[in-house]
Amino acid sequence: MLTASSTAHLLRATAARLLRYRAAMLLVLLHLWLAAPAIAEPLQVGPAARYLLGPSTYHLVDPRGFLGIANVVHPDVAAAFRPSLAETPNFGFTRAAVWLRTELLNTHDASARWILEVGYPLLDQVDLYVVRASGATRMQRGGDTLPFAQRAAAARHINFELELPPGEPVTLYLRVRSGSSVQMPLVLWEKHEFYAADREEQLVLGLYYGVLVAMLAFSTMVYFSTRSRAYLFYVGYLVCYALLQLSLNGLAFQYLWPRHPLLNEIATTFFVGTTCAFAVQFSRSFLDLARHSRVLDRASLGAIAASIGVALAAPAFPYGDVIQAATGVGLVGSVVILCSAVVCLLKKEKQALYLTLAWTIFLVAIVVFSLKTMNVLPTNFFTQNAMQFGSALEAVMLGFALTHRYKLLMEESGRLQAEAAANLEAQVRRRTAELNQALQQLSTANASLEDLSQRDPLTRARNRLYLTRRFEALAGRIEPLSLLLLDIDHFKRINDLNGHGAGDACLHHLCDVVGHTLRGGSDELVRWGGEEFAVLLPGTTSEDARTIGERLRIAIETAPAQVGDRRIAFTVSVGVASAAPDTAVTLSTLVAQADAALYGAKHGGRNRVCTGLGLPLRDAAPHPPALELQSGPPA
Ligand code: GH3
Ligand code: MG
Ligand code: MG
Repeated sequence: MLTASSTAHLLRATAARLLRYRAAMLLVLLHLWLAAPAIAEPLQVGPAARYLLGPSTYHLVDPRGFLGIANVVHPDVAAAFRPSLAETPNFGFTRAAVWLRTELLNTHDASARWILEVGYPLLDQVDLYVVRASGATRMQRGGDTLPFAQRAAAARHINFELELPPGEPVTLYLRVRSGSSVQMPLVLWEKHEFYAADREEQLVLGLYYGVLVAMLAFSTMVYFSTRSRAYLFYVGYLVCYALLQLSLNGLAFQYLWPRHPLLNEIATTFFVGTTCAFAVQFSRSFLDLARHSRVLDRASLGAIAASIGVALAAPAFPYGDVIQAATGVGLVGSVVILCSAVVCLLKKEKQALYLTLAWTIFLVAIVVFSLKTMNVLPTNFFTQNAMQFGSALEAVMLGFALTHRYKLLMEESGRLQAEAAANLEAQVRRRTAELNQALQQLSTANASLEDLSQRDPLTRARNRLYLTRRFEALAGRIEPLSLLLLDIDHFKRINDLNGHGAGDACLHHLCDVVGHTLRGGSDELVRWGGEEFAVLLPGTTSEDARTIGERLRIAIETAPAQVGDRRIAFTVSVGVASAAPDTAVTLSTLVAQADAALYGAKHGGRNRVCTGLGLPLRDAAPHPPALELQSGPPA
């Protein structure tokens, strides 16, 4: 409270200051002289819940900000106040201090409590002076340069608590200085109504941020499922835009950084810059702009650079300077996006339609809000919240745009998947066929290797390995089993007289003759080694084996080999070994028996068949030497 003497002291001090700044005051005095004295009727405050003070307010602009309360209550200065008339006194961007004066008369009762709300949360300094009829003055400070806790009511708008004694006129003076634009939507609220309205407003704002958060969650999810960069930029845009809105409407100061008024000032311009940068980059990426228009792509890059510049300048320069650059950058960015969308639309890019609609809505909202800020359009619910309406609609539109794009991406990926699956299937079929063919070749090769490993390389007859296997396969037989061992008589001599090649030809010839003479089926000739051969005869008794041996002997004896122009006759001696049915016998035993029989045959004079008992089948006299040359003298 200021007393009369302190008021006089203040007046004197101010008078001294006025003298020092004569030149400046000349301007004010000229203003005073030109001004017609205004007679103010106090606003009657009755039982209503809220009063818009704008129309009953008078204002005075103090360009250098010298005037104090003691000056403005002075009748000469008081007469210079002009009626505001507007619902929201608006002075645009100004470095001046603006004084507002309004007179109130409580015609109701004493019980009501009142809140004076200044509905523009960005104002830096708002000082309220309440001057009673007695001249007693009470001052309260407000504005977003003070910590949030100092507010009378914990609400996003600057506010003061008022006492209005019934029947006593009270004059309110508001002194405002701000780097932001100076707008003063002044409302006098009955206290309970103020809180009720604040709650309702928070609900609406909650819905608005709900829309933004839903779009944010959706886009984040889509980004992680598609990894398409456009979604990431959109998420960045939404986050920055939401923070910008929270800073503009005072909620960020209320909830996010209530103790840091400075941060609040930086945040607004910073988020204008980042929002703009993300928005332009989003449209570049979404429209694939570089493919459609090089000029617009470059313009976009320029707008992004300018936006980042604004964001970086935010903490370094005064708010009043940066905000104007930020507003310009915001407008340029919006226009670049709109032009890009329209150009792509003209090139028949379907997805550009949503973007065009979204940005047209948003651009209109920005223009409306800017015109309101510049005091060209009146302040009302729609102009004040133009950005909120615009951006919510825009967010939904961009959501459509991204959903459409998502659909296209899904279709494309479905098509690619089907194509890939078909390709893969064909490839698998081809590979399987190749593999089967290779397997077939391998098994054929294996079979022929297996066969080769069991044949004698010279005569192509079966070898000892084959005989061993064949014998193992017959294990557990119940039939009789016989084995013949054939040895060519005096073969060394054949070699000596005719050469090794002829000897080889005789071995071949023997195989042919035996092959033709055998019963076929399971009876097979095996080259045992050198000029010795074996014939395994499953299911054959000793007697039958002897008969077969005899048949072979005769066949060989009577069919000389034809080698070139020579006929070489030779004979064989045969040893027979047999095992009775159901008796266990090993191959080596059987061979040893047959060998012994063969020894007997050789001793008996050759060209004969002997059984395992060493008894020759045919007790014939020894044959003449088993060598017969068709031409040339006998050896
Ligand atoms: P015997 O009536 O007592 O059986 O007299 P032989 O001369 O047939 O018997 P010997 O064991 O004295 O000689 C066998 C000969 O068979 C010696 C060897 O040079 C010959 N020989 C062994 N394997 C082959 C071959 O693959 N090709 C040729 N051309 N000769 C072979
Ligand atoms: Mg021999
Ligand atoms: Mg021999």
